[in-house]
This record gives sequence, C-alpha cells and structure tokens, in this order.
Amino acid sequence: MSQQIDEPMVRLAIDADVCIGAGQCEMVEPNTFIVDDETAIARIIDSAALPKPRAQHVAERCPSGAISISHSAVGPNSRPQPAADLRRVPPS
Ligand code: SF4
Repeated sequence: MSQQIDEPMVRLAIDADVCIGAGQCEMVEPNTFIVDDETAIARIIDSAALPKPRAQHVAERCPSGAISISHSAVGPNSRPQPAADLRRVPPS
C-alpha cells in the first residue's frame, strides 16, 4: 500500500496485556508489526507512525483492540519515532 504524501501521520502502540497474537496487524502492515515467535505478542518493528487511514484500518482489524492510535498527529514529512515497548517483563 503506497503512502499518501499529504496524509497525517499518527502514532501507534500495542497493549501487550490485550494482544492475543492473532497476527492480523502483521498481515495488514508487515513492515510495521511482527508477532514474536516466543511470546506470541505483536510488537512494532519499523515505525510507530503510519498515515491515519492505514493506522485506523490496522487498528480496526485487531480482534482484541490491542492497537491504539494517538490522535496527536505527526507531520507528513516528519520522521516517525519508535513506539514504547509495552510488553510486560516476565517475572524472574
Ligand atoms: S492484530 Fe491485535 S491481537 Fe493480533 S497480533 Fe496484532 S496487536 Fe495482537
């Protein structure tokens, strides 16, 4: 899917407590999401920002509602920033 130059960019995050590892995010945006083979939890691999329509589409495809979109858009030409890793640290 090609990026529209004028589309506002929005930030994404995954709630690891909610993710069920279904993998729709990885199928829809394979350059942005990956499901970890060991934890079966999705994480963001490339960019935490996508054009708003693509971000809304991938969030709507998530069956558990684990993907959230920040409504504070970043500029269309700004460099996306990495999302915070929200995975829980397993007890040691
Ligand atoms: S689509 Fe949602 S539930 Fe499925 S792996 Fe991605 S974030 Fe997790």
